[in-house]
Amino acid sequence: MALFDNFKEKVKILGIKSHHLPALAAPFLIATSLFSCQPRYDTVKIGMCSDVHLPTMHDSEYRIQTFIDSMKTAQPDFIIELGDFGTPAEKYAHLFDIWNSFSGDKFHVIGNHEMDGGYSKQEAIAYRKMKNSFYSFDKNRFHFIVLDGNDPRNNSDKGYKQFIGEKQIDWLKQDLAGAKHPVVIFSHQGLTTYPGGEGDDYGLENGSEIRDILEQYNLQNPKTRVVACFNGHTHYDFAENINGIWFITINSMAYQWMGEEFTHIRYSTEVDKNFKWIKYTAPHKEPLFTIVEISTAGFIKIHGKQTEWEGPSPWELGYPEALKKYVRPQISERNLSFKLD
Ligand SMILES: [Zn+2]
Repeated sequence: MALFDNFKEKVKILGIKSHHLPALAAPFLIATSLFSCQPRYDTVKIGMCSDVHLPTMHDSEYRIQTFIDSMKTAQPDFIIELGDFGTPAEKYAHLFDIWNSFSGDKFHVIGNHEMDGGYSKQEAIAYRKMKNSFYSFDKNRFHFIVLDGNDPRNNSDKGYKQFIGEKQIDWLKQDLAGAKHPVVIFSHQGLTTYPGGEGDDYGLENGSEIRDILEQYNLQNPKTRVVACFNGHTHYDFAENINGIWFITINSMAYQWMGEEFTHIRYSTEVDKNFKWIKYTAPHKEPLFTIVEISTAGFIKIHGKQTEWEGPSPWELGYPEALKKYVRPQISERNLSFKLD
């Protein structure tokens, strides 16, 4: 009994709930607790948010401060935002300062809206003190890859991009070849496509090419395989498994984009005068964000957070019912499993 208590204690220290461990793992962990203080599994805890859209909302200071305060308490191994955070304009600097007040490791993903207002990608990268728009890092014996889905398809490609260019693909292949730990990928635009409210598809145009590269890598490297890819961009709440890899869309901190057809004044006319995009959104009353725990024991735990729509729901305004599969004012609690051989 004492041993079992010890096992539960260890699991608690690791931040893992014992019911998430496979039944077979329990005797092994008890055995290791007899002979060693080394945990059997590696676990990483990530504070995550996406599509914060600082310039869009009138209460962005409250939203980003709520996230950072929560992270200061939760103390994840790092925090990351999955893109569409804000532009380098001086009027948003105090909001970036709130993000930067988190003293632990923090990472950005470049979304399509960081360059709004005529800023270049280089400016967005420099403002965030990033070494590059795509990069990788190791943490707690996991390998993390951040992709940049804003490459032009060709020289005449104008407007918002959803593409990963040749140079970045070469880099990705090289980076994967050197990976020593299980891999987790972050990108703003998803590696799978989803239907949008205004008829467009959201996601990387060459997502299937990237998925093929990941699947090939997984076949050759089952011990350090790609277990999950996290993305934002759609403001959806969704997860699906394609050929053994989890593709997880983290909902926006702030709102669902509705578009002009569904214009609705949600706050005051004063707010709408100063924040001209809000009337095209269905805002989340409270900011959405999550803690994600990933363990080599074979699970991904996404902590749930739920709020309400500010004003009428998308469905009350006639937003396409087919999108009910993806659109809700929450990040769903999920326990996803994977296998490392
Ligand atoms: Zn986006």
